[in-house]
Amino acid sequence: MLACLRGAQKRYGAVQALAGVDLDVRAGEVLAVLGANGAGKTTALGLLTGRLTADGGEVELLGGDPTDPAIRRGIGVMLQEGNLPDTLRVAEHVRLYSSYYPDPRPLAESLALAGLTEIAQRPYSALSGGQQRRVQFALAICGRAPLLFVDEPTVGLDVESRRNFWAVLRQLRDEGTGIVLTTHYLEEADALADRVALMAAGQVLAEDTPTGIKSRAAGKRLRARTH
Ligand code: ATP
Repeated sequence: MLACLRGAQKRYGAVQALAGVDLDVRAGEVLAVLGANGAGKTTALGLLTGRLTADGGEVELLGGDPTDPAIRRGIGVMLQEGNLPDTLRVAEHVRLYSSYYPDPRPLAESLALAGLTEIAQRPYSALSGGQQRRVQFALAICGRAPLLFVDEPTVGLDVESRRNFWAVLRQLRDEGTGIVLTTHYLEEADALADRVALMAAGQVLAEDTPTGIKSRAAGKRLRARTH
């Protein structure tokens, strides 16, 4: 197992964002964390990646503590929004990030996987929103980390870009990378995931294969709780 949450709790003031969440992340597998706005997906990712600390329960990442910088070198993270200096070019950003990792991919490979080869010399500030998200993805994968976290990566992408992105994630998974992906889209979980954790109101309501989740979601009981 690459990472896990055990009974994880997190509060923001009066809001109980996570109320006892268990998740397991395994090598060579895509885990989709599926849920509506506010379900707690980003918070769960924040705990696993050491960006947030839990108020209760346990969090383990690559056999250690996710807040340990040495442990965090073993993961790649693509957040929903990333702030990067506008002054650097695309390739410069990716080169800089690669230098943080012990065994990075060749620069050209990272750029190609993220679909950035043609625009590698453009300044970040000149990119569209979708292109900037591709740069965020390149930064997440450039270190060849065994564990990759991607937070709602395809929001706002057109259908073709979304499919291309899924193909790259499948390739990384087939190379043995463990991938945790948060999404609002059942279609995305269905297309990609080996396992799906369905979240609502800070809890995992069900964890199953995409097929199992779809048949449960068709049942009245689950529908009543998620809507
Ligand atoms: P989305 O799909 O909109 O990103 P999510 O499933 O990722 O939602 P979280 O972002 O983890 O959900 O939020 C879970 C709950 O915690 C929500 O009620 C949210 O409003 C609240 N929350 C998240 N971050 C904060 C914060 N920094 N301060 C206060 N409340 C927060």
